[in-house]
Parts: sequence; structure tokens; C-alpha cells
Amino acid sequence: MYILLGGIKPLVGEVLGKKATRLYLGGCNWKCGYCYVPEVLDEKKCQRVNLNECVYLLQQIKSMEAVEITGGEPTKQARELETLCRACKQEGWLVKVHSNGSNPGVIANLVTENLVDVLALDVKAPLKDEKMYSHITGCKPDPQKVRESLGLAHLSSFNGLFEVIVPVLPGITDNEETIRKICKDVSYCDSLVLRGFDPAHDLLNEKLKEEEAPSHDTLLKLAKVARDALYNVNTIMVESAEKGIETI
Ligand code: SF4
Repeated sequence: MYILLGGIKPLVGEVLGKKATRLYLGGCNWKCGYCYVPEVLDEKKCQRVNLNECVYLLQQIKSMEAVEITGGEPTKQARELETLCRACKQEGWLVKVHSNGSNPGVIANLVTENLVDVLALDVKAPLKDEKMYSHITGCKPDPQKVRESLGLAHLSSFNGLFEVIVPVLPGITDNEETIRKICKDVSYCDSLVLRGFDPAHDLLNEKLKEEEAPSHDTLLKLAKVARDALYNVNTIMVESAEKGIETI
């Protein structure tokens, strides 16, 4: 079996406190202008790699304890993603999958077969606001699919941690009303991340580099709104270009 690989970044973060390597699966069904990995979206720039070879490459990374599979959109390669998660679990690594939530069927398999220790889903806009979803994603996605994916976190068979990531974009989602609406859509999660836009990254739409990053203070204010709306969520984090990650 072959996967379309967008890249591997060894030991760039943590999953549940364990040293994690980030693996990018190539291609995405959406075209968000603020996307930080334009090179991963371009399938022609990705490599077709045998899945066993991919696991071998991961095995060479000493002291790695976890793998974060992201993209692009990893669920686009449904069978490959499941097989890769299974292989990583067999190696004894913790597995995190980060998805835009557009393929609830694939997410359901990952969850019911306990192939992920952490499931991270993006909620890019209020789910009733198709116009805002289209504006952000540069296409016409069905936000109800994201709603279905969010609902899977309630499955009693899922033992992992469920994280929701909300991109805070200047002039779009960087206001209290929108964050309040998004929180209404997220009836349950273990942790919520308000990720501030950072124009220092590569961006799919380079014109967005002229936009300003939301300040750390703005993110903290929005986090307070989220905390009031989501009293049952354990952890709320903000991530700003200015000061990095802060848990409130
Ligand atoms: S931000 Fe995520 S969903 Fe949007 S284009 Fe990039 S990889 Fe795809």
C-alpha cells in the first residue's frame, strides 16, 4: 500500500506529554487561504511512499514516542490512514490525528477501532454559517459533516482525548459573537484550542500576509468567552504568534 506523503517533521511537539513526530499526508479537499502548508496541499509536490517504508522512516527517529498525523486532510487517504494508525499503534507510539472533520465515516472508523489516542478536529466557523465556512475554506464544504464528526466524540467506545481547534482569523472569527456561536456547536470536548492566525507562516493565499495576527490579549478575552460557554471543557488554550501557547 502506498501513501501520498507531504513530509515528516521529527520531534516537533508533544502528544499527551510524549515526544511526537508530525507526519503530513498530502492533499486536501479544502483550500483555506490561511493554510500554513500550501506545499502539502499540492499533490504533485508530495511523494508516493510505500507505507512500510514510511513506518521504517519513523522507526529511525530515536526517542520518538508519538506521531501526529495531519495534512492536508489525512482522511482523504482513508484506508491508508487507518492502516498507518494501526501500524503506529503496533510500534507502541501514541497516535494523534488532526482533521478538518469533513469525513465523518473515516473518523468513525478511527474512533470505534481505537486507532487514535487523540482526535483533533477543526471547527473553522459556526456550523450554521455556510457562508463563513465557504469564505474561510475557499470552497463549498458541508459543515453538517463536521457536526457529524463532532458527534462521534460521544461514542462510549472512544477512550481517547478529543480536542477542538478553532482558527482565530482577523476580521472573521476574532470576535466574541462568533466564538460564542462556535462554542454552541461544540457540546463536548476535552480541550479547546483558540489558534491565532500567524502571517509569518507560508500561506496558501499570500495576500493574507498583510493581515495582522490577533493579539495575545484578544485571544485571552475570547478564551474567557469560551470558558463561560463551555463550563464542562477541561482545558482551554490560546496559541498566539506573540506569546505562544497559554492554558487558561
Ligand atoms: S487549513 Fe486544513 S482544511 Fe484548510 S486547506 Fe489547509 S489542510 Fe486543508
